[in-house]
Amino acid sequence: MEQLTGIPVSSGIVIGRVFRVGRAEQRVPHRHIESDGAGEELKRVDLAFEAAITDLQTLRDRTREELGEEPAKIFEFHVGLLRDPSLRQPIRDRIERDLVVAEWAVADEFRSVADRFSAMGSEVFAQKASDIIDLDRRVLDQLMGENTSRLATLNEPVVIVAHELTPSQTAGMDRSKVLGFATDIGGRTSHVSIVARAVDIPAVVGCHQISRMVENGDQIIIDGDAGTVIVNPSEELVEEYLKRQSQVSSYRAELRRTAVGEAVTTDGVSIKLLGNIEFPDEIPSVLENGGEGVGLYRTEFLYLTSGHEPTEDDHYQAYLTAVRLLEGRTLVIRTQDLGADKYTQEQAEEPERNPFLGCRSIRYSLQNLAGFKTQLRAILRAAAEGPVKVMFPLVSNVMEIRQAKMLLADVAEELVEDGIPHGDDVEIGMMVEVPSAALMARAFSSEVEFFSIGTNDLIQYTLAVDRGNERVANLYTGASPAVIQLIKSVIRAARRKKVDVSLCGEVAGEPIYTMLLLGLGLRTLSLVPTQIPLIKTVIRTVTIQHCERIARKVGTFDSERQVLNYLRDELRKIDPGSPGGWTAD
Ligand code: PEP
Ligand code: MG
Repeated sequence: MEQLTGIPVSSGIVIGRVFRVGRAEQRVPHRHIESDGAGEELKRVDLAFEAAITDLQTLRDRTREELGEEPAKIFEFHVGLLRDPSLRQPIRDRIERDLVVAEWAVADEFRSVADRFSAMGSEVFAQKASDIIDLDRRVLDQLMGENTSRLATLNEPVVIVAHELTPSQTAGMDRSKVLGFATDIGGRTSHVSIVARAVDIPAVVGCHQISRMVENGDQIIIDGDAGTVIVNPSEELVEEYLKRQSQVSSYRAELRRTAVGEAVTTDGVSIKLLGNIEFPDEIPSVLENGGEGVGLYRTEFLYLTSGHEPTEDDHYQAYLTAVRLLEGRTLVIRTQDLGADKYTQEQAEEPERNPFLGCRSIRYSLQNLAGFKTQLRAILRAAAEGPVKVMFPLVSNVMEIRQAKMLLADVAEELVEDGIPHGDDVEIGMMVEVPSAALMARAFSSEVEFFSIGTNDLIQYTLAVDRGNERVANLYTGASPAVIQLIKSVIRAARRKKVDVSLCGEVAGEPIYTMLLLGLGLRTLSLVPTQIPLIKTVIRTVTIQHCERIARKVGTFDSERQVLNYLRDELRKIDPGSPGGWTAD
């Protein structure tokens, strides 16, 4: 039996058999051919590429049906790569020049392209490398007569274990057969984490060695709340986890049943709970879980899954779908939060040395005005169909927000001139996720109609801790007194100027923080949809007075340990004995 702890990214417990996904399973024949055999090998390469393209197109159609237009676009991107002569030609040259079998030429060429991307040393290029490896597997599967798009054709439920899962693997797997995931690397924002949360499959990432420790068929337990992965557990442990699993799932089912009610404290204060989404297809889950609308729509996923700059119509169709699904409920569309680990590095001639402090989010948008204006146009057009708010990410000085507002006004004017229907009462807001914005919240409150506090980034920038780096994950915490002070001052500034304020970082979905956030004065939270029922239940158990007392007490602590211990104790006091849920942090 072996036990590992990783980063829990999607809640729930699963027990199942391992299905290892990795390149190591394939044995590529290293054989030379006769000089007159090259023609035959070239034909095999072309047939394999074409068959892989057909496979990808099938996957694209199925994904489109099950998950929607945006996630399906990753396959479109992969088809494009396979059609690109600059990928195929060197393979053909290699066969003709070195007289090697097609498998060898394909594996070598894909490997060298992937290595070149990996050597560029940024997460974005690492992503590109994993796309290439994914395609390599597909083409080799065809060549070796083993069409192992196996993730799409699993015939029994399994737990996927991999060093890393590529986007196409994650989106392409048969989710009725995938019980959970565990991967060696990855963070909260990696593709696998996002898809796992969106489809509610338990997952743990950042387990370092897990893919090397397991064999196909091993029994494995994944606890997506605690971040625990156990390989070949003892019978007693399996019994224990089975019991916990059934307790947790009946508790979650019960929570969901109560999700339809209002989020009101016992002393009658209403709290608005909204959902965070990456794709419009997640909206039904927001509503089923009792969310009142969408408080954060991360539109950059439109770019991330398509691999190309979306057109105005791509944007518009996505936003229109969201507006229609919400039927008049709140929709906060955040403009592209690209850069850092997302998308822009692959476009750059020179990757940035320190991309998290570089040209990301609003800075990237303001340097790429054409794309930004295209998105703003689509947002304003969608606002003609229902209530839409627009929110700008990572604002760090007032000039940025003024420029963004000016551009929005320009775009609105253009739409008037063109006679195109658009919303003319779109509220403008900004994320407060950089310490400078939090400290200057008073100045910003004259510029916008609402703030949304983004603790995911606020924590990383305040504490100087990379939010995606598992080596410093122990230093990354929302219980930091410094972060709490910043949140408090933002809420105070917003209240003074009567600007709405909400919080949409991950802490909004963690019950340990709920009383503190209410006590600090927050009345709107936006969170991962599946956590809404739990947070709602906590809210219905407390009084605002009690929450305020908790916030005052927390204000006297100077270490995150004290804060965490205290919040954990306070939560325990009101927890009616839920299995696992309430006290996790
Ligand atoms: C945040 O930073 O808290 C946030 C909600 O934005 P994202 O996680 O998309 O960076
Ligand atoms: Mg952020």
